[in-house]
Amino acid sequence: MVSRVIPVETFDLVIFGGTGDLARRKILPGLFRRFRSGQTPEGSRIIGAARSEIDSDGYRVMIAEAIAEFGGDEASDSDSLAAFLATLDYVAIDAKGDGGWADLAQKVRSDVVQAFYFSVAPSLFGDLAERLHSHKIATPDSRIVVEKPFGRDLDTARALNAVLSTHFNEDQIYRIDHYLGKETVQNLMAVRFGNVLFEPLWNNHYVDHIQITVAETVSVAGRGSYYDKSGAMRDMVQNHLMQLLCLIAMEPPSRFGADEVRDEKLKVIRALQPVAPHHIVRGQYDAGPDGPSYRNDAENPRSFTESFVALKCHIANWRWAGVPFYLRTGKRMKARSSEITVVFKDLGHTIFEGDTARHRNILSIRLQPNEGMDLQVTIKEPGPGGMRLIDVPLDMTFADALGADAEEVTDAYERLIMDVIRGNQTLFMRGDEVEAAWRWTDPIIQGWEARNDVPKLYDAGSTGPEDAMMLLHRDGRKWREVKG
Ligand code: NAP
Repeated sequence: MVSRVIPVETFDLVIFGGTGDLARRKILPGLFRRFRSGQTPEGSRIIGAARSEIDSDGYRVMIAEAIAEFGGDEASDSDSLAAFLATLDYVAIDAKGDGGWADLAQKVRSDVVQAFYFSVAPSLFGDLAERLHSHKIATPDSRIVVEKPFGRDLDTARALNAVLSTHFNEDQIYRIDHYLGKETVQNLMAVRFGNVLFEPLWNNHYVDHIQITVAETVSVAGRGSYYDKSGAMRDMVQNHLMQLLCLIAMEPPSRFGADEVRDEKLKVIRALQPVAPHHIVRGQYDAGPDGPSYRNDAENPRSFTESFVALKCHIANWRWAGVPFYLRTGKRMKARSSEITVVFKDLGHTIFEGDTARHRNILSIRLQPNEGMDLQVTIKEPGPGGMRLIDVPLDMTFADALGADAEEVTDAYERLIMDVIRGNQTLFMRGDEVEAAWRWTDPIIQGWEARNDVPKLYDAGSTGPEDAMMLLHRDGRKWREVKG
């Protein structure tokens, strides 16, 4: 198999919040993997920046420990690790003060690609953007990367966009949603727009309904105080599930360019109809044999925040009129499993005897675990005894199909960071997309608040509240099994 990797130019990447959890757990181990696979150009540098008063050697020790903890087997390659650590530098800086900025200005080169990763609380975005300019560090070609959460409603998202756009153009701003960096998510576009097979069927004539499930087994313990102010709608649906919905439902863009793709995604969000209250189920996990309740984990005994959401929505356009999209996400569920499922309609007429409804084509796209896709097709059960039909999956688990070790399938963060260096915004959210997503989400959350809506309790380790099952049962459908 011949693969062509688009080359990356030499870069200086400054990670504000370079001592934080995200930097240590995801960003730097990801960058190490890229370095190790030879995809970091000679002379590129990574500069950590945070308030902690450590020197560059101290930072290298910190990152070596982080890679040992979070970097998997590759961390044992000590030669590569030493070479990678030599590319690291550190500046002690306060986003809210002027100390350290002159030092940073000296270190960042203006003749290489400059990227600034804002891996800090969003309340610091404005300070960072402003100081990058007042200290004459940023150039019109610099890129900034910002993390979720991008606002907690439309007003706050608008305010953040306004702060960033004071100093940077939209084509310099990379809003990360790491779901978009997953191999499968991009493969979804390859499958839809690179094959003749699927696109003719991708509409309300042939699709019965679509399900998107992002089930997590983790609790909110350890980040309860943040999560309790957010909830599943803000933390997962407004961004990750919405992005997946856009990619599955969008019209074919005229070319695979950043604005062409994002224009089509935006049209999907704008075509989303408001969701009726009886088409949404909110849940909160209860205590179980292997863990405490949400309220305990969130350290808020009176919390009404949802750790689970299931909803049914519709996209008002010609392609999808009448096709329900069922979205579901939750914490402390039975298994860790993210999957998009396209359930095709029954045959209009069958020549075979028996229950044809049992034999439907189903395309499932797994984001985790075992990234891949399978297409359920109906065949004859082998052997004698007449024409009995069975469903079999045409399985394409990427690790098997491509001969790759599952661990080698590129991590979303490293892919996205390299896209920033390449200047490719296709897999990043544009400001108008984020605002449109909040415009759809806000009335749902405001409705809950106005009604003092109490989430339904569900057993930890289950598939969510019973009402979520009923959401589909009422329509004569059922959720795909959540299995890890
Ligand atoms: P964190 O562990 O609290 O780290 C925050 C970082 O910001 C630290 O390096 C901290 O270092 C630095 N910092 C705080 N105040 C600063 C200031 N005034 N000036 C300069 N640096 C300052 O947070 P995190 O979990 O890494 O999250 C970072 C961002 O990513 C947040 O926006 C978060 O919502 C987002 N995010 C995180 C995750 C995750 O898995 N952790 C996932 C998705 C999104 P000092 O204390 O040394 O200054």
